[in-house]
Amino acid sequence: MIQHDVTIVGGGCVGLSTAKHLSEQTDLDVAVVEKEHHLAAHQSGRNSGVLHPGFNYPPDSEKARFATEGTQRMKEYCATHGIPCEELGVLVVAKNDRDEAQLDVLSSQADENGVAYERLNSQAEIREHEPHAVGQAALYAPEAASVDSQQYVYALAREVQQNDVDLYTGHAVSRIDETPSGYHLTTSNSIIETAYLVNAAGLHADTLAQQVGVGDGYQVVPFRGEYYEVTPDQTDLCQTMIYPTPDPELPFLGVHYTRRTDGKVIVGPNAVLAFGREAYDNTDLNPSELAETLRYDGFRELLKSKTMLSVAWSELNKSYRKEKFTEAAQRLVPEVRAKDLRKSYAGIRAQLVSDDGELVKDPLAIETDDAVHVLNAVSPGLTSSLPFGEYVAETIAAKTD
Ligand SMILES: Cc1cc2nc3c(=O)[nH]c(=O)nc-3n(C[C@H](O)[C@H](O)[C@H](O)COP(=O)(O)OP(=O)(O)OC[C@H]3O[C@@H](n4cnc5c(N)ncnc54)[C@H](O)[C@@H]3O)c2cc1C
Repeated sequence: MIQHDVTIVGGGCVGLSTAKHLSEQTDLDVAVVEKEHHLAAHQSGRNSGVLHPGFNYPPDSEKARFATEGTQRMKEYCATHGIPCEELGVLVVAKNDRDEAQLDVLSSQADENGVAYERLNSQAEIREHEPHAVGQAALYAPEAASVDSQQYVYALAREVQQNDVDLYTGHAVSRIDETPSGYHLTTSNSIIETAYLVNAAGLHADTLAQQVGVGDGYQVVPFRGEYYEVTPDQTDLCQTMIYPTPDPELPFLGVHYTRRTDGKVIVGPNAVLAFGREAYDNTDLNPSELAETLRYDGFRELLKSKTMLSVAWSELNKSYRKEKFTEAAQRLVPEVRAKDLRKSYAGIRAQLVSDDGELVKDPLAIETDDAVHVLNAVSPGLTSSLPFGEYVAETIAAKTD
């Protein structure tokens, strides 16, 4: 039997950042348990790789603090560890007056959150930044950056191992039981006793938390985000990052263009219900997980909203009909054609939904006497991962005093 002071379930950017901060700030004996044999197999390695500097989030919110601080810290981290990261800036494009009013909200959030930005008030000004983008106005935020998220996860893993954290890959936690002195974890390859537990299991965090009576009232609903790649001969269509103006009612930012650090330009993601927590292809189906979602009261409540139903229909269409995805891409860059887009990867968001049908938009970590359960490491979870992991580490460290 293996024993540790603190065991972190989940070797994504949140779990590994927590391990980094615990190993730097305490003498605790820490382990990270990851079910996959390779890291970054889920959200932390299947995302847009954009560092969001914080204009999208209300002032004084945790999301704003984590995003602004996270962007800065991550750039420094990438520079120190040789991880590809390019400060390309992002253009948020308004297509109509309603969007433009929302840009006013983003601008005032940027002012209050201390995020640099420039307002562009004509098509001509937009063209100076992005020659092929079309809109009536835009917000340009120069601090946004593109990062290689997989290399970031591996750098964190290397660093924590150098700090004597034990990293067990290929150990899937199937059961967590409470004991008088902490927790007993049954994994596919071991039994682990731990005094303190951090649950950072992403798409499966709710299932594990509920085994020890935490997180009732919530369920993770998996939303797949699919990407297309712009063919190499057309990558000039996007120089940096081009986003639509976000709908404040939705937790997803909408189909956008991202120039990655390897020079590829990706377009996406949409947001469609995944028929399983790891159903990355739109033909993948996990019957028991799909049934779990369809039976969930919170999901049924969510579908009672006419707006949600219409969004769901439109997103589903983008998944199964390339022309619909292309139309979404053309809203920002009208010159792009279906033939310029080829299918790329997909990621699945662990979107927490409450029993009353709310999409939980803020990060949520539930504490008990000897554990922290990260139930909602919602986007921009990659951007936020250094300060968020530090916060989780400090919460656990305070319990061990
Ligand atoms: C399509 C998409 C686009 C996004 N774009 C951005 C972006 O541009 N910028 C940004 O800041 N954020 C973005 N995000 C959000 C960001 O990727 C996530 O918030 C972040 O990666 C969450 O990290 P995590 O460590 O909580 O989860 P994960 O990376 O999912 O890590 C959880 C880990 O736990 C492991 N695990 C699960 N169950 C078990 C078990 N039973 N036993 C052991 N291990 C287990 C998993 O294998 C996994 O490795 C995006 C997300 C998606 C899906």
